[in-house]
Amino acid sequence: MTTTPTPIETIDLTDRYHQSAYMAGGAPAWTLDRARQPVRAVILHHTAGWYGAPPGASATVAAERIHIDALARDHRTRFGIGPGYHYLAFPSGRLYAVGKWGTHRAHTTGRHPATGERWNVQAVGVCAFGDYERDQPPPRLLDALRSAFAECTRIAGRPLPVIAHGVVPSVDASGVPFAQATACPGARLREALEVTRPAVTSTSPVVEAREALRRARSEIERAAALLDALG
Ligand SMILES: [Zn+2]
Repeated sequence: MTTTPTPIETIDLTDRYHQSAYMAGGAPAWTLDRARQPVRAVILHHTAGWYGAPPGASATVAAERIHIDALARDHRTRFGIGPGYHYLAFPSGRLYAVGKWGTHRAHTTGRHPATGERWNVQAVGVCAFGDYERDQPPPRLLDALRSAFAECTRIAGRPLPVIAHGVVPSVDASGVPFAQATACPGARLREALEVTRPAVTSTSPVVEAREALRRARSEIERAAALLDALG
């Protein structure tokens, strides 16, 4: 990302979606103390489609908000929170904030390999509305996404790595590494923004210690089984 972001004013819809209609169990269930849970990365997504006819590059705010509301209802039903992202960017170049910085959401499964904490807690989800495995991302959409990344850096007070969803290094609750099984945010968007795998390694001391513990447990189980067999 070498292009200077075009100044884009973020449209703030976070109050609209910060209520139990869009949050299972109510807002407190999704609210975090960011002093204890700082944001460590931005994860880039696409919606992989539209809720009806695509609104296009010259769409009105009203037309785009129909798609945001539809996404919010869909995610609330499927994941308990809608929208599952913090930011949504459109082909028009508009950028909407839809999730408060101090909330965890539902955009990426698994955990950060080094901290063992859920990515949904430790990453901000930025999403491009549309299917960018199939379609070429319009320039204004890219501007809106870059503006979102810049806003995240401003709020965090330091540069944050931007990671394409499909290559987010992840471990499960037991510390076992796994691959994100998704093409999200689409090959064309990944190419356009040159988002690559960041320097978040999957061989952190925490992961190594968990691996050692698992090996030791299986050795003990094997020895116990052997002793049982020998009477
Ligand atoms: Zn995604």
